[in-house]
Amino acid sequence: MSNETLQAVRGMNDILPDEAELWLWFEELARDWLHSYGYRNIRMPLVEPTALFKRAIGEVTDIVEKEMYSFADALNGDLLTLRPEGTASCVRAVLQHNLLYNAPQRLYYSGPMFRHERPQKGRYRQFHQFGVEALGFAGPDIDAEQIVMCARLWNKLGLRDVSLQLNTLGDAAARNRHRAKLIAYLEQFDADLEANVSMSLDADAKRRLHSNPLRILDSKNPAMQQIIAQAPKLWDELEDDALKHFDEVRAILKRHDVPFEINPRLVRGLDYYNRTVFEWVTTRLGAQGTICAGGRYDGLVEQIGGKPTPATGFAMGVERLLALLQDDGMALPKAEVDVYVVHQGELAGQLASRMAEQLRDSNLRVLLHCGGGSFKSQMKKADASGARVALVIGDDEAQADEVSVKPMQGGEQERVSVRNLIETVNKFIK
Ligand code: ATP
Ligand code: MG
Repeated sequence: MSNETLQAVRGMNDILPDEAELWLWFEELARDWLHSYGYRNIRMPLVEPTALFKRAIGEVTDIVEKEMYSFADALNGDLLTLRPEGTASCVRAVLQHNLLYNAPQRLYYSGPMFRHERPQKGRYRQFHQFGVEALGFAGPDIDAEQIVMCARLWNKLGLRDVSLQLNTLGDAAARNRHRAKLIAYLEQFDADLEANVSMSLDADAKRRLHSNPLRILDSKNPAMQQIIAQAPKLWDELEDDALKHFDEVRAILKRHDVPFEINPRLVRGLDYYNRTVFEWVTTRLGAQGTICAGGRYDGLVEQIGGKPTPATGFAMGVERLLALLQDDGMALPKAEVDVYVVHQGELAGQLASRMAEQLRDSNLRVLLHCGGGSFKSQMKKADASGARVALVIGDDEAQADEVSVKPMQGGEQERVSVRNLIETVNKFIK
């Protein structure tokens, strides 16, 4: 057996205690924010049948083609996948448990997602999202509400330099007409079909030409940009209903003073979107600038076996958001210790642990010294812990049922009866 230290899987990060403080702080704030809009928590498994994602996300998407952690269960051969996103699982759970029977649902979840991508700053193989889904709402009001609520969160977080990109993908009929025109246009640049092409489709585009041409417009390959710029526009095909829906979304955003930029090339990487789509982007995280993305997906519920149900949602990437916060100079919140309990001698040890429990009953954060050592060395630990107060208990104090309370920021040490402990400690802390 080798003694080499084992490392975490590439692209999957440990979140160490100092950083975890920031995560906890953010998660609490995010939960409060979601609850303030009436969203309720739902928790799905991290592993789902592979078929779910193939059906929901689409076979010809980056995620399904090359990013999923899929495997056969070695014990029974089931085909399984670590979830690459939450929407499919959430809709599956809602259908399986008939949650839409009585009323529409506003739901959220958070946790790790898995995608086998090339790891780089802001792009990991295990990353974390907060995901929000509203199921059973058809109108533009909910699309706009979800965008407005994001704007409110950025505000709460004091985020600068995030902007909103907005587009509409229209409905199925318009997309089909556009698709036919797009294929005809793009075929002109397929070097296999046309002999003398000046510009040519890249390999990804060729593969998608007949299966998912809309996604070609999403290509980040510089060599494709000129072809994309002149492609037929989906917007020219949009029907009145979809346009009206989009107008209304924009009107609500304006009323809420949420600025946006219309980006007709925003198509999103998953198949299930229709009508409103949006991304919140920043210029400060390099190529990984999208911190939150979502939109309407009216077809998905039916696609995975339910009755047709309108739906809209979004997901934000926690790593990218926190990176942005830190880039903004946000200091890491530090968990504070209120009291460090120093003790020596057997009787003192017993009193010390009783006193520590009592202080915790009054909601104080207490570190009880473990491991013995001289008073002096224990006091050094108390100092390093950042505690505001040290309790000092020797057998002498213990015999008298008393403790010494020492304010760490200077000031006189006081010896008090255990009955007056809480009061004395609080005096120094408040
Ligand atoms: P990108 O274009 O950056 O690949 P995406 O369109 O694949 O993003 P979504 O599926 O919309 O991303 O996921 C929503 C959000 O989750 C993204 O906006 C981003 O903040 C975050 N995210 C997605 N993939 C990753 C990843 N591999 N690592 C870290 N965060 C990610
Ligand atoms: Mg991606």
